[in-house]
Amino acid sequence: MPRSTPQSEPQDWVTRAADDAVRHHERSGVSGPVTCSSGISPSGPIHLGNLREFLMPHFVADELRRRGVPVRHLHVWDDYDRFRRVPAGVDPSWEQHVGRPYTAVPDPWQCHATWSDHFKEPIVSALHQLGVDMEEISQTERYRSGVYREEVLHAVRHRHDIDSVLAKYRTKKTGPVATPEEAGDHAAQEAEALAGSVANDDDGQDAAGDIGFFPFKPFCRDCGRDTTTVTSYDDETKDLAYTCSVCDYHGTTNLGTENQGKLVWKADWPMRWAFERVDFEPAGMDHATPGSSFTVGHELVESVWNYPRPAWFGYGFVGFAGVQKMSSSTGAAPTGADALRVLEPGILRWLYVRRQPRQPFDIDFGPEVVRLYDEWDALARKATDPAKRDVQVLAYERAASTQTAGRLPTAEVVVPFRMLSSVADVTAGSAEQISRLVATMGHPHDSVEQLEPRLSRAMAWTAEFVPASERTTVRTGPDLVAIQALSSREQAWLSLLLQGLQGELDLEQVTKLVYGVPKLTRGMALDDAPTEEVKADQKEFFRLLYHLLVDADRGPRLPTLIIALGSERVRRLLGGD
Ligand SMILES: [Zn+2]
Repeated sequence: MPRSTPQSEPQDWVTRAADDAVRHHERSGVSGPVTCSSGISPSGPIHLGNLREFLMPHFVADELRRRGVPVRHLHVWDDYDRFRRVPAGVDPSWEQHVGRPYTAVPDPWQCHATWSDHFKEPIVSALHQLGVDMEEISQTERYRSGVYREEVLHAVRHRHDIDSVLAKYRTKKTGPVATPEEAGDHAAQEAEALAGSVANDDDGQDAAGDIGFFPFKPFCRDCGRDTTTVTSYDDETKDLAYTCSVCDYHGTTNLGTENQGKLVWKADWPMRWAFERVDFEPAGMDHATPGSSFTVGHELVESVWNYPRPAWFGYGFVGFAGVQKMSSSTGAAPTGADALRVLEPGILRWLYVRRQPRQPFDIDFGPEVVRLYDEWDALARKATDPAKRDVQVLAYERAASTQTAGRLPTAEVVVPFRMLSSVADVTAGSAEQISRLVATMGHPHDSVEQLEPRLSRAMAWTAEFVPASERTTVRTGPDLVAIQALSSREQAWLSLLLQGLQGELDLEQVTKLVYGVPKLTRGMALDDAPTEEVKADQKEFFRLLYHLLVDADRGPRLPTLIIALGSERVRRLLGGD
């Protein structure tokens, strides 16, 4: 089995991370597949910044599959984390659920069983479209079924070791002294603001009453919240006594027989790495700081669980441009589903794989989308030539297909996005109408389906992301005043153009004509190279056409515009009848 890549092959960050994951697997001495992991808490809409958390391990797992190495992408849903606060727009009565796990909070939008399901479902569906093949586990199920019971007992037995590691970082904290609750909350808020990360950054100090640090926090038997304080623990009987500050319940749970709580976050993460045999797990850059749950976890997994810290790298933030135009989000950051309405799955993948993980980037849903499609199409052409295989082509290959999903959906007949969106813009027409027009523009095809998934994305982008001021508004009738005032030269241009626009129009012929009319009026042939005078005339002629057709100084390319309008409509607007 080729466990690494031959030197002659292009190499990128995915190649190197896959090598690291394999090395970790060998060092850990664990049998079974290499495990690349991601983890996220379904606390809110999972946006394009969070998508990086899923895609980084996905690309690494896919690279290992390509090499024939047994591998799994393990995605961990941190759905047993506590519901922290009621976001704006949600019924304030949800305040009663603060402290309960996301899987125990009802869905305020009433479309799913729980808060957790409400936010899981859309991203799972987007990931499916993106060809991401992962094994999902729920921390709620893991904890409640007792799968982690031995690990919980292990952490509790080693609570003093865990505490002393955590204490090192506690004393290093500078600045104003905050209570652990506040500090934890602040860190999590900051992480959320930056990456939408939802890591519970508590370190268990608040779980402890008089007995000091305790790495396990019960959910109250009476009210289901984690607003509990451990009052005693018996290492022999494994009875843990606690009080709940919200409902005032006093009770016990037995760690050897019951599953009514979870490890505090800083112990939960390393436990999971060891238990699930994780070889590679990246983290948002905000986690890569001293004292963060991630760095502390790395230390704990080795000292307490005797398992080598997983290979990792920090990844940068993903920002957005043109977001205010996203119709589906109410001021929230766009999600994978939002992006997939405009970008083909392969292109969305490409945005994430072509950058170094540390590099932050923005996804622009404005005019940049057109350039992005052009660039992608150019790369696709380059990728067909084996002699040109390089790192860019490698990124293309990783984006365009996966080992398990095969080639991601792509149009059978590739029409430039620029053309599709211009035609959609000018005609505001149906898919069938657009399909008919682009067929005459040098892209013959048999059915609308052959233009998908690109056509509907071009239509959605044009309708929802191109601001009204940039949209093309075709005149409803001729500008008679302007037509009356035409100079004789302008009249000559228009009549030559209309003479040429007879019968079936095709793009090449119309292009030649539009550029050629000013040549003809200067006694030149259509194919002659333009002189400086002709170039000046062309400019003027084009401006005139835009004015008469769409009442603007510029617009879509004129040949595209003319074909989209059809010769009859053009003739009427130019005063030809
Ligand atoms: Zn309670």
